[in-house]
This record gives sequence, structure tokens and C-alpha cells, in this order.
Amino acid sequence: MERLQKIIAQAGVASRRKAEELILEGRVKVNGKVVKELGTKVTLNDKIEVNGIPLEKERPVYFLLYKPRGVISSVSDDKGRKVVTDLFPFIEQRIYPVGRLDYDTSGLLLMTNDGDFANILIHPKYEVDKVYVAKVKGIPLREKLKQLERGIMLEDGKTAPANVKVLSVDKKKQTSIIEIIIHEGRNRQVRRMFDAIGHEVIKLKRERFGFLTLQGLATGEYRELSPHEVKQLR
Ligand code: URA
Repeated sequence: MERLQKIIAQAGVASRRKAEELILEGRVKVNGKVVKELGTKVTLNDKIEVNGIPLEKERPVYFLLYKPRGVISSVSDDKGRKVVTDLFPFIEQRIYPVGRLDYDTSGLLLMTNDGDFANILIHPKYEVDKVYVAKVKGIPLREKLKQLERGIMLEDGKTAPANVKVLSVDKKKQTSIIEIIIHEGRNRQVRRMFDAIGHEVIKLKRERFGFLTLQGLATGEYRELSPHEVKQLR
């Protein structure tokens, strides 16, 4: 059971707010009867009509995006900044990001219009490898990196064990490139983990999500997931 306005929005007919207006204006019918109650609960088995046209469920679509830096993981931004859906000008479905990457983080981001799929993948119990490559200030001591591997206390609790590998060190510039594999997806988690050991992240990229990589994509490009990949991810 879902709220009527949510079902209308998910079908891609209108935004949630616009759907509410349509309901209040008496333009929505459920099983042949006009419904003006915003909270009305319906299922996909109910026959819903908007302006006399039956609601069809949008075809579910799944994309893997190589998100560039300087783009918001959202479908709109009140400050007018670029959002990830701007990178899909020819996709008519109402897609949105599965979880998020920070404005300044680049890398692998899944996009879909399938709410069930998105909910499965962002659930804290969904534990796939999330592989990041971070450029950090300074050259962290082995012991500090061990702390990240064991789990480190952040303000929202201790992080789960991680894998950390130093890929390169620039002694002159005093920076390091470090691969870190985490299994959670807390807000700004990698940046906060490095902050906690005193090494600020200067650049961050998500290279892998489970078995998915950015192979074959340039920054800003995307590809559709195959049905087999979608099945494997669920
Ligand atoms: N961790 C971060 O700090 N930022 C991201 O965008 C993703 C993970």
C-alpha cells in the first residue's frame, strides 16, 4: 500500500507536489471514483486514472554513471547547480541516484527509477565492496591506516573494518594516493575517516561498487546495466 500521490509521482506523470494538486483538483480517479483525499492508500492493482488516462508504470531502467566532480547527487538543486540527472538529457524516465556521492567526489554512481531496487542497495545491511581512491594530505603512518582498517570512531559510531592500501606517495608534495574499501555508505564517510586520522582528503573517486567498475566510461558518461547485472545486484 502506498500513498496515491507517491504512486502517481513514481509513474512519472508528475512530481509529488504536482500529483497532490491533481488529486485536490479532482482529476484523479481510483477504480472509477474521483478521490480528493491526499492520504489515500492504493496498490498497483488499483486502477488509477489521471485526467482520464490510466496510469502505467514506467519501464524500470538502470544506469551506471561516471559522475564528474562538481555535480550534485540529486534530481534538483535550489541553488541552480548542476545535478546528476542533467547528465541524462535523452532519458525520459524519472531516474534518481542510488545513494549519493559528494559534490566534489567523482566516480561510480547508479541511477534508476526502480524504488525497490534503490532501497535494497542503500540499506545498511547491503554489504558490497565500495572501492574508493583518495588523494590525501601528508603521508599517513602505517599505524594510522591500521586504525582505519580496524574501524574508527566517528560521530555516528564506529566504522566497520575496511581494507586500506597505499598506492603511491609524493614526498615532495607531501600527498598520498590511497585505496580504501568500505562496506558501508554513511554520509561523507571516507572523508570523515581520513579526517579522523588527521589526513584531509583532497580528491576522492569511487572506482568500484560490488562487481561494477567504471571500465569503458569517461567522466560524465553512463551505460545501461544489463538485466543480468541488475539481477546479480539485487
Ligand atoms: N565517502 C565520502 O566521503 N564521500 C563520498 O562521496 C563517498 C564516500
